Amino acid sequence: MALNYDQALEIYEPTLGLEVHVELNTNSKMFCGCATEFGASPNTQTCPVCLGLPGSLPVVNAKAIESSIRIGLALNCSITPFSRFARKNYFYPDMPKNFQTSQYDEPICVNGYLDVTIDTDEGPKVYRVEIERVHMEEDTGKSLHVGGATGRIHGAEHSLLDYNRAGIPLVEIVTRIVPGTDKYAPEVARAYVAELRDILRSLGVSDVKMEQGSLRCDANVSIAPRGSGTLGTRSETKNVNSLRSVERAVRGEIVRQANRLQAGERIIQETRHFQEESGETRSGRSKEQAEDYRYFPEPDLLPIVADPAWVEELKAALPEKPSIRRKKLQEAWGVPDKEMAAMVNAELLDTVEETVALGAEPTKARSWWLGEVSRLANEKSVEPTSLIKPSEVAEIITLIAAGELTDKLARQVVEGVINGEGTPRSVIEKRGLKVVSDDSALMVAIEAAIAAAPDVADRVRGGNIPAAGALIGAVMKATGGQADAAKVRELLLKHLGQG
Ligand code: ZN
Ligand code: MN
Repeated sequence: MALNYDQALEIYEPTLGLEVHVELNTNSKMFCGCATEFGASPNTQTCPVCLGLPGSLPVVNAKAIESSIRIGLALNCSITPFSRFARKNYFYPDMPKNFQTSQYDEPICVNGYLDVTIDTDEGPKVYRVEIERVHMEEDTGKSLHVGGATGRIHGAEHSLLDYNRAGIPLVEIVTRIVPGTDKYAPEVARAYVAELRDILRSLGVSDVKMEQGSLRCDANVSIAPRGSGTLGTRSETKNVNSLRSVERAVRGEIVRQANRLQAGERIIQETRHFQEESGETRSGRSKEQAEDYRYFPEPDLLPIVADPAWVEELKAALPEKPSIRRKKLQEAWGVPDKEMAAMVNAELLDTVEETVALGAEPTKARSWWLGEVSRLANEKSVEPTSLIKPSEVAEIITLIAAGELTDKLARQVVEGVINGEGTPRSVIEKRGLKVVSDDSALMVAIEAAIAAAPDVADRVRGGNIPAAGALIGAVMKATGGQADAAKVRELLLKHLGQG
């Protein structure tokens, strides 16, 4: 019988380590002047250097070095006084030089840490994730396998190569083994990537879009029998591209490895690929050892000697830590932990902050972005922020507060803005979405509702206040939801002698 996660954890103890690759958002590539814009036509952003043509010579991108140092500083690393690029030799069809220019034994940043908090059965708990190194390297191109059912090379008729991504600056952030995560390894992995992403975003060094691959996580997982004090053979699940998948991939690997060991099989050191649909990982290639790469110092690039005064300057200019900023916002807004976490998880914190800055009430800003707007965005499979601007949501919330819109009308306004009918004001105008607050107009609808249901009206007259709900509903319906329900209730009860 297959073990589930809890059963696997009774027998085995997991060990977790994480590698994250971040594409920097520099205007040009790591070692040449080619543009880095995402989504350009294939092979339009290439030159002899990033195509690896003979005789071409690389020149390092100063901005990429600055970004790498800032990342290291934000992760509490030491910046090494002397660092160097190295050639990592291997063959990939989308890597035209046949080596990746990376860093090996002389990385630019070492020995940092990042604290992450997760919810445990015993309440919030902080895990210190130690960072072993932060190094610079370059991305490869992209292969597109055409003709097969799976998009993989097996069964494909031919493959296309796009070198636009070849040479895009990458920073690789490698943790040490995270101690003591035990059954929370999946949650710690997710929280680490989330916190790292927030830090990178606050530094402005990357788009950090996991779904576009500008932030990719490799999860290293091994398990060993409880109390054995040994480390098992690890697998490396590559390029996991969402926070949810990071958590699922770690969980899935723990279960898979436990079941293999229980069946008397051994764990192979290999790379694996996460399958979104099943939540399982699939075998990739057996993992090279470092010596297989025949690393050697890159002879075409000068070593990097960062001026300590410059590093100090960069350190002094680092932005506020996202964890501190979150705490301040939460206090200012007075929202509970759960709502705060929901905003962070939905990646809408910045958006809600902007909406509040434009005059909206924090709770309302949160509920419109996470509620109606997110729902519509989900339906269309797009980001909420691509549908409507914070200024427009703020305007709608202000109109509700002023009594010019009901929640129901406001939903129609949101829909109109999203359909491209213009600003909230012009949608209200065009669709005639004014709150009916004119007492005489409401009274006409109230009289009609009473006339249509005299028995209900009698019950209300007789003191049965809850019965008024049906009449209020009828009035709201007759006015197309444009009446203020509280106002209708007040007028109705007064009219029936119960006000
Ligand atoms: Zn180039
Ligand atoms: Mn790498």
